[in-house]
Amino acid sequence: MRRHLVIGGIVQGVGFRPFVYRLATRHGLTGWVNNATDGVHIEVEGTATEIDAFIRNLRQEKPQQAEIYSLTAYEIPDRHEKLFIIAESEAPSAAVPFVSADIATCEDCRCEIRDPADRRYQYPFTNCTNCGPRYTIIRQTPYDRQSTTMDAFPMCEACRSEFDDPANRRFHAQPNACPVCGPKYYLVNRQGAALPLESGQNVFVQTRKLLQSGKIVTIKGLGGFHLACDAKNETAVATLRQRKIREDKPFAVMAGSLAAVRQFCNVSAAEQKLLAGTVRPILLLDKAEPYDLADSVAPGNPRIGVMLPYTPLHEILLADEDIWVMTSGNTSDEPIAYSNEDALERLNSIADFFLLHNRDIHRRADDSVVRLIGEQPYLLRRSRGYTPLPIRLAKPTVRLLACGGELKNTFCLTHGQQAFLSAHIGDLENLSTYQYYTDSIQFYKSLFNITPEVVAYDLHPEYLATKYAKELPLSQIGVQHHHAHIVSVMAEHGLDEPVIGVAFDGTGYGSDGAIWGGEFLIADCFDFRRVAHCSYLPLPGGTQAIKQPWRLAAWILSELFGERMETLPLRFVRSLPPEWPTVLKAAEKRINTPLTSSAGRLFDAASALLGIRGSIHYEGQAAVELELAAGNRTGRLLPFAIREGAPGQLDFLPTFAVMSELLERGDDPADLAASFHNTVAAAIVTTVRQIKKETALRKVALSGGVFQNLRLLTAVEQQLKAEQFQVYRHCRVPTNDGGLSLGQAVIASERYTRGPSRATGG
Ligand code: ZN
Ligand code: ZN
Ligand code: FE
Repeated sequence: MRRHLVIGGIVQGVGFRPFVYRLATRHGLTGWVNNATDGVHIEVEGTATEIDAFIRNLRQEKPQQAEIYSLTAYEIPDRHEKLFIIAESEAPSAAVPFVSADIATCEDCRCEIRDPADRRYQYPFTNCTNCGPRYTIIRQTPYDRQSTTMDAFPMCEACRSEFDDPANRRFHAQPNACPVCGPKYYLVNRQGAALPLESGQNVFVQTRKLLQSGKIVTIKGLGGFHLACDAKNETAVATLRQRKIREDKPFAVMAGSLAAVRQFCNVSAAEQKLLAGTVRPILLLDKAEPYDLADSVAPGNPRIGVMLPYTPLHEILLADEDIWVMTSGNTSDEPIAYSNEDALERLNSIADFFLLHNRDIHRRADDSVVRLIGEQPYLLRRSRGYTPLPIRLAKPTVRLLACGGELKNTFCLTHGQQAFLSAHIGDLENLSTYQYYTDSIQFYKSLFNITPEVVAYDLHPEYLATKYAKELPLSQIGVQHHHAHIVSVMAEHGLDEPVIGVAFDGTGYGSDGAIWGGEFLIADCFDFRRVAHCSYLPLPGGTQAIKQPWRLAAWILSELFGERMETLPLRFVRSLPPEWPTVLKAAEKRINTPLTSSAGRLFDAASALLGIRGSIHYEGQAAVELELAAGNRTGRLLPFAIREGAPGQLDFLPTFAVMSELLERGDDPADLAASFHNTVAAAIVTTVRQIKKETALRKVALSGGVFQNLRLLTAVEQQLKAEQFQVYRHCRVPTNDGGLSLGQAVIASERYTRGPSRATGG
């Protein structure tokens, strides 16, 4: 008997073919296995019992990294071969291939690079079928050495024999390499000149010495460049901040071991599992006492982003006790550098030395950023280790490109039931990021062999992603920003029925031309109805008001107290910049003063009023610091008003009025910060309850950047669950605009499939 099997899933670049080979041999089967663009194809010949056992074991014993999504088998005529072989990969076909994400160094490889007797002792490019680079080195599919940046490094005899030996851990490990044949690291100064090595030293020892002496070193890694310095050296960290022009946004650190992490952070069992797992993202952890890292690493923040070594290079460079700042190698707003020349040029004024290697980074991948809520991951940035693994959709889509938003941009390509959400691109505000964006779209299209019929875009006419979409000769479907947020979380959970969507966000273009961001929608994957929102407030000075939250706070005070505002004994009033009366006058005349229902701006204004943060250096800073100020305080409930109507409105001016009075009375701003969170949560729950009364809907989807605020998120979630609502929040896709393109894709596919849209969008 002979059968042909087609296996779809994550089966390429994870040691799947060698595994199939060993399994088939064990069952005494003949035939072959190969990689094709639509997955792995297998033909096996033998007794029916053995073939059945083989198929059962395929699922049960599959390599750790592999995922089998589909397995089809059909009978074909016998061929009477003598052997089972691994056949050549097929030429690309029309189906969508799978590409693995990069995988952190496995335990076996880790042992080898630490063993002075091993031929890979201290070799920073060590990998095997269970670990190593995938996405960052691949140029095209199917995944074979010739299709990667390793094609410049022909294997030596020793490596070749591992590669060819079915019993070896490196059997068909495409990036297989060793010190004889593989890429190499070298250390240079700012002028690009090699550093003379002291006798008996290598570049890694030298680099570590430089870092220990307070220098800043650019380190070329897997998906980009890091800027590194000693996290315990205040001068070094402060210098890095100053040179990178990064005032107070926290830096992430890499620690040499879990034991080192425990010295400055509390680590739960679930957190430990993620830290030391196969993805190794930056994980946000609570600082512990005593905390002895430099203050400038994460100033004024009770949390810190931490990762463990995820490449052999990191394993070699960092001693167990080392803790280094490892921040992406960009000046403030640029995408991360990716060629050696780029790095030397762009990072010249920041780094003192450069640890580079001679393998190209084909695809950049920033470090992913994750927080755990209980034991569940909550992704803030989805990139290295996660991309380009597809997100499985509830139902098939058309071939489609969703262009994403403006900030924290990602795009999304879909085909069938798979959504390929791109790695984090960044803020589409400058030419270099925009080029990286359009490049990446081309790359994903060819990698996954998807030619879109439809393009989805945000309604904001000024977003570069929207302008890009509108020039494409494809069916065009505009999607409202907050509808996309809600459907993004629905898509993660496979929901396709009307839900109550709560989109609490910074900024998004509304169907009425105003700036939305505090929205209650009844939404499905096709359409939405806006049933309530935060009441409109003016943004004095437009985008200036986002960078300077004091503007809205000042407007609120003058609205509440009129002339008396100036005499209020508040620190906020005393510290207002001199131009404030002019700003308010312009706002009164509605000059450059758009209206917004943004919840993000409310948090910003509260932060400013409480004297916590009146001007920001990075997106969301005022709100982040408001949440930090609230800490574990209980706070109380302040008044708010809900005006019924179609749509209903949530009015927080009464909240601000009472906050000012309590502040005047001498209440602690930290308590008031907690109270503000409680109040917004209560207003959300009250509104959702009201919508349920009218619609009988019990499923609530939470999305939007404001829900990066865990105090708000958990409060809302707990209270809704207590009232028997089913609550859905993000898990694998960011709640911020990094998740937008997934929602856009699902909505646009639904509209395209159902024909001419009757979607109202309002
Ligand atoms: Zn390995
Ligand atoms: Zn070799
Ligand atoms: Fe948004």
